[in-house]
Order: sequence, then structure tokens, then C-alpha cells
Amino acid sequence: MDKMRLRENFDEIVQRVEKARLRVSEYHIVKIVAASKYAGTQEIEELYDLGQRAFGENRVQDLKEKSQALEHLPIEWHFIGRLQKNKINHLIDLNPFLMQSLDSYELALELDKRLIAKESVMDCLLQINSAKEETKAGVYPEEAFDTYQRIIADCKKINLKGVMTIGAHTDNEEEIRKSFETTYKIYEALQPHGAKICSMGMSHDFELAIECGSNMVRIGSLFFK
Ligand SMILES: *Cc1c(COP(=O)(O)O)cnc(C)c1O
Repeated sequence: MDKMRLRENFDEIVQRVEKARLRVSEYHIVKIVAASKYAGTQEIEELYDLGQRAFGENRVQDLKEKSQALEHLPIEWHFIGRLQKNKINHLIDLNPFLMQSLDSYELALELDKRLIAKESVMDCLLQINSAKEETKAGVYPEEAFDTYQRIIADCKKINLKGVMTIGAHTDNEEEIRKSFETTYKIYEALQPHGAKICSMGMSHDFELAIECGSNMVRIGSLFFK
């Protein structure tokens, strides 16, 4: 992919995010995380040179390879994929800026145990399966508030920073909106308990997500395709 194209994509994304956030409020700041699973290290570095600082990877192995190849850059790495139990120690060693896909209480307990053993801590988001889709990970909306509280109480090495969701997988905009509104309501209820990040919105639905209150979008294909 040539540099010109990457710059054009970047400009378009920044402008669209800017417009969407201003429709909410002048004070509503939205962070863009580039989901780099479609990108090689060269494209990531080019995007970094254009000013992008936060990148998200779905697989621990990819995060490891790309972050090590780009060690010379102060990139903020996010983990946004399903975490298998046998990869927990590897992820801890990579020390991501934010683990966005903590998708169950059981995983939290396991992660906390390994964090204790490694004398480490991790900032995480609780992933919510906001449209209750079988193919998706995450806690169901009605369990999310309690699960969040239980993780705060029982997992001292996990710092919960908020919630993450993937919008409903459908062309029906109202259903996608509903899944974002559901997630935002949970986020609002959790704000008194320290939630600061509401991560929702991808290439096809980030403007809608911002309109529903998202303050972190994860954009992949729009950057790299
Ligand atoms: C791939 C991915 C994204 C980005 O998706 P696009 O539709 O390519 O923008 C966002 N979040 C997660 C969890 C992903 O796996």
C-alpha cells in the first residue's frame, strides 16, 4: 500500500471522527486506535510517521512480532482480540498499554493469578456482548455491572478502565444503535466506579458509535484497505 493512499485514508478518518465528535460536544474527545491486524510493520511505521500513536492487535503472537520489530517507536499497543489462557503469560510480558478484551470473570481470575505471580498489573476494559451474539465474546449486558464490580473486588492486579463492545453484526442501523446504547448505559452506571473509557465503533459504524457516546474507536479496514 502506498504512502499517499495511507495519508488520504488517515485524513479522511480524522476528519470524520472530528465531525462526529463535534456533533456530541466540543469537549467530547475521541481516541483513535488503529486496528493493525491487516497491516505489516512497514505500514504501521508509516502511519506512526503521519502521527498515529495507538495501535491494536488481535493475536498475542502478532502483537509480539510487531511490537518487537517496532521497539524503537514509542507506540501505544492495545490488545483487542480473544485471549487464550495459554497466552496470558506472553501477553503480560508484552505489557500492553490497554487490554480491551477481558471477556469473562473466569478470564479475569486467571489473568489476575498470573499478574500476581509476575508482580505485574494490567489496565483492562470489560468486553460486553451487547447484542448477545453467539459468535461474539463478552459478558451479557445484564451481567456486566455485577461482573465489573466482582473483578474490581477480586482481581487486585487488574485495573478496570471501562468497557468495550463490537456493534451488532447486521446492516440494520437501529440494531447497531441499540447495541451501542446498551453499552453506553452500562458505561454510565460504571462511571462512579472509575470507568473512563467506552470503546466502541469500527470502520463501518464509528460515527454512530461516537453519537452514542463512544470515546475510543478501533478502526482497521478504513486505514489499511
Ligand atoms: C478488526 C477489529 C477492529 C477493526 O475492524 P474494522 O472493521 O476493520 O475497522 C476493531 N475491533 C476489533 C476487536 C477487531 O478485531
